[in-house]
Amino acid sequence: MSPASTPGRKPENTKNPMEEKRVKCQKCGAELRSEQKVCIACGTRTAAGGNFAVEEKEPFQITSSMKKAAAAAGALILILIFALALRVTPPDVIAQKWFNAMASRQILKAQDYHSPEFVQSMQQGLSDSSAISDYIYDELNAKQGKESFGKAIYTPGVPNQASVTVNISYPDGSAQTMEIIFTKIGRRWLIERLVY
Ligand SMILES: [Zn+2]
Repeated sequence: MSPASTPGRKPENTKNPMEEKRVKCQKCGAELRSEQKVCIACGTRTAAGGNFAVEEKEPFQITSSMKKAAAAAGALILILIFALALRVTPPDVIAQKWFNAMASRQILKAQDYHSPEFVQSMQQGLSDSSAISDYIYDELNAKQGKESFGKAIYTPGVPNQASVTVNISYPDGSAQTMEIIFTKIGRRWLIERLVY
C-alpha cells in the first residue's frame, strides 16, 4: 500500500497551487498558459491577447461515420423488404382473406387464392366461385351467421398440404363448418378444394 493512500491521510497535492490555469487556443487547440497573449503554435491572439472574436462554426460536412450509418440504415431497409417479400402468408390468413372476399362478392379477388386444380374443377363445373360466394353471402346475411376461423392444421408428412376450418354459428345456436383444403405452390398457400 502506498503512503499516499493511507487512511486518514489525504494524498499530497502534486499540483503547485500557484501553477497557472491552462487554456486552449481557439483556433488550433494548442494548450497555452492563460496569461499567454498569442498562441505559440499558430500565432492566433488569445483571450488574454484581446481576442474577443466569436467562435467560428465549422460548415456542415458529411463525415465518413455519417455515410457508414446511412449505408447501414439502407442495408437494413433492404433486408426488411426482402424478408417481407419472402414471407409466406399462412393458410389461416389466406382463409380469412378468401372468405371475406367471397362474403363481399369480390369473386375475382377470391379467385386469386384458388389453386390451378381448384380452377380446373370450376371449369369442369364441379365447383363454382359465384355459387360459393352466394352461399357464404346468404349464410352471413339472410341467416345471420357469424364466422370464426380455426388455426391452420398442417398435414403431417405432407409439407405442402394444410387445412383451415371455418365455423359459422347461427342465432338459433346451430352451427356448421366449412373445411378449406390448401396446397402450397411455390411460396403461396392456395385453396385446392372445399369440404362443407
Ligand atoms: Zn493556436
